[in-house]
Amino acid sequence: MKKFVFATNNAHKLDEVRAILGEKVEVLSLKEIGCHEEIPETGETLEENARQKARYIYEHYGVDCFADDTGLEVEALNGAPGVYSARYAGSGHDSDANMRKLLREMEGVENRKAQFRTAFVLIIDGKEHLFEGIVKGEIIRTRRGTAGFGYDPLFVPEGHTHTFAELGNEVKNRISHRAVATRKLCNFLL
Ligand code: IMP
Repeated sequence: MKKFVFATNNAHKLDEVRAILGEKVEVLSLKEIGCHEEIPETGETLEENARQKARYIYEHYGVDCFADDTGLEVEALNGAPGVYSARYAGSGHDSDANMRKLLREMEGVENRKAQFRTAFVLIIDGKEHLFEGIVKGEIIRTRRGTAGFGYDPLFVPEGHTHTFAELGNEVKNRISHRAVATRKLCNFLL
């Protein structure tokens, strides 16, 4: 079976990606390869960050691997929070504070269009491959739902009336930005 390291310890992301790749590919987390250090993520774009993380693992551990970076891009905010989505309200990956800041920034804003965008960089035998996944939708005015993570309670994907947090993991795993990018990766691998 093919084996890849996914350069993350985010359990939500691991579950999502494993659910899509299924039985055909074994996906190991950073913890599972004994990588406990903080991997630098200093790029100014999602692609740069994903490449930086994947290269770090390839160079330090010599294994085939992939890394992702995701951002929420809001049209009326010129693409913010974008690459800074995790740290939008401060350094601490605090989803609650991030959502409060987003709603504050969008007070009185009529254009609610937004998209989640994921960049995946895969490295096989030292060669890099880039995959992108986008899901378009809009930012609602008050949070709804409890599933998922991050900005999910505020994001209604196009063609739906419920937020990602209301739709739940099964539906989200079918339609999400990461699902789109992971399917592209999967088609490439299998
Ligand atoms: P990361 O750097 O790829 O982990 O993602 C950056 C930030 O984007 C996360 O901390 C979340 O706030 C947000 N994010 C990423 N993926 C999702 C998602 O599927 N739903 C909601 N928010 C997400």
